[in-house]
Amino acid sequence: MSDNCLFCSIAAGDVAADVVHETDNVVAFRDISPQAPVHVLVIPRKHLENVTEAAREMPEVLAEMADVAQQIADAESGGQFRWIFNTGAQAGQSVFHVHGHVIGGQELGWNPA
Ligand code: AMP
Repeated sequence: MSDNCLFCSIAAGDVAADVVHETDNVVAFRDISPQAPVHVLVIPRKHLENVTEAAREMPEVLAEMADVAQQIADAESGGQFRWIFNTGAQAGQSVFHVHGHVIGGQELGWNPA
């Protein structure tokens, strides 16, 4: 657990969140400011800053995150979803604990920049 990390605190249960799925390695909870009918954040319990660090240091947990994302989409979005990892402040990352945004529940446009 990293000091002063919001998502570490959510994973530890010290900050409340609307948790939809959890495993020994992964927690998924609803985004506090949803951008679509389905907007869930999937995080590892272990603190790493971004998706590249996760791929390098724990690829098996990143794969488990993908599986959890698919399970959420299967339950809530007809199995279809967009999975976004903002990486770096310029790209819009505001919480520096790796998280995949699972976005779905509607027809999605494409204006990523
Ligand atoms: P990013 O900008 O990619 O780092 O995404 C961070 C996301 O965390 C944003 O979509 C926020 O709305 C979301 N967020 C911030 N605080 C909370 C919280 N306490 N519970 C759930 N989602 C949060």
